[in-house]
Amino acid sequence: MNKVCPLCNKLSEKTLICNKCGSVMENKGRAQEVLLDDYTANMTINDNSDYCIHIFECNSCKEGRTMQIFKILI
Ligand SMILES: [Zn+2]
Ligand SMILES: [Zn+2]
Repeated sequence: MNKVCPLCNKLSEKTLICNKCGSVMENKGRAQEVLLDDYTANMTINDNSDYCIHIFECNSCKEGRTMQIFKILI
């Protein structure tokens, strides 16, 4: 058995609804790989064994959000 992130491994898709405009927010990848310097300056990215942090971005207004994606056993 292995603990893996379902999004990183393409086992499932996740979309969120934007708080600002109601459009679909898409997964942009892991926070560690996506975040730019101005984000990381005031935010600690703690990836741990139980979850993976992903960045979601709104398709229309470009609002960004991070979300913990809990790993699953395969
Ligand atoms: Zn992941
Ligand atoms: Zn939006």
